[in-house]
Amino acid sequence: MTSTTMRGHCNCKRINITIADKPPSELNTAVCHCRNCHRQGGSIIMLLATDDVVIEGEIKAYVDHDTDSGQPVTRYFCDNCGTPVISTTPVYEGKRIVKMNLFDDFPAPQVEIFTRSRRSYPAPIEGALVTFPGNAEAPAQS
Ligand SMILES: [Zn+2]
Ligand SMILES: [Zn+2]
Repeated sequence: MTSTTMRGHCNCKRINITIADKPPSELNTAVCHCRNCHRQGGSIIMLLATDDVVIEGEIKAYVDHDTDSGQPVTRYFCDNCGTPVISTTPVYEGKRIVKMNLFDDFPAPQVEIFTRSRRSYPAPIEGALVTFPGNAEAPAQS
């Protein structure tokens, strides 16, 4: 996948999201294996600067306090269809955690996090860095 602007949307298409043009290596892609993301249907994410993410449409917020990191995670989702859109947390001030499944195509995740809660499937991603397995550790920043 070459550098290109990514456009995605929620299931009802009231939320549209655009990611600034970046090479795949700068998208900070990861799979989050935490239980809370499992309950949201799973999380393949990108960690991007707030300015690199443009969201059109009304998103609703839920502040999740019962997290593996011990830090609050504000989870934003489509007010109409419930599709998870982004999350924010004080751990990553000035950044947005973007749900990659909003996009039709995306590069393979580079990192796997909160692997302590990993399910027996799907299999680990070949070549991905496994880091930040549980709580109270400094998250990896690239
Ligand atoms: Zn929607
Ligand atoms: Zn998670």
